[in-house]
Amino acid sequence: MRPNGAVIWLTGLSGAGKTTISEALAPLLLAQQLNVELLDGDVIRTNLSKGLGYTKEDRDTNVRRVGFVANLLSRNGVIVIVATISPYRSVRDDMKAMIHNFLEVYVNAPFTVCETRDVKGLYAAARLGKIKEFTGLDAPYEPPLNPDVTCFTDRETVEESVAKIMDALARRNVVQGWKPDASPRQSARKHSGGFLSPRQQKVS
Ligand code: ADP
Repeated sequence: MRPNGAVIWLTGLSGAGKTTISEALAPLLLAQQLNVELLDGDVIRTNLSKGLGYTKEDRDTNVRRVGFVANLLSRNGVIVIVATISPYRSVRDDMKAMIHNFLEVYVNAPFTVCETRDVKGLYAAARLGKIKEFTGLDAPYEPPLNPDVTCFTDRETVEESVAKIMDALARRNVVQGWKPDASPRQSARKHSGGFLSPRQQKVS
């Protein structure tokens, strides 16, 4: 029997909340005794996609590489969380068509909110012209037309966003016995053992 792996693909602007949601989601999946792997865009670009730039072609290549690895893992039963801007719709749709059990999550925050957050100082640098081809500024972001889940991170808590994703995974029988009223934060703290977050991966 085919193991019930899945790919949870989070797409959205820089600073929309993809990494934050992934880090809160992963421990809940681990608590379900699932094998979980996180492919975070920033980490991928320092190894698997090192050397790629930000043209449309390079961004699409990056997405295809991530999708290739996610597919390999998920077909062996791993629950893969992908957190990458992946701005172009057509290559995302290709990944959706290729990967069995693909959950597209649109991490939706307005550009102005992401710019105000400016978690990594990238928006300020882009405004100063120090970064070219910046998504949402001088490079496009094509939102999903029919995502499986949309997280409105400008008006939802991280817990609410995570709960939406868990609900969707429960509907697909990827997770069992998920109780939406359980506090993800508490569970996340309780079950975080062994999981290396992207932020930890970045410094390792
Ligand atoms: P991305 O991975 O999409 O580039 P990050 O997760 O690194 O974004 O940054 C998102 C920022 O927004 C973090 O500082 C996070 O604390 C903040 N934030 C505020 N509200 C939310 C929310 N509801 N969901 C996710 N992140 C949020």
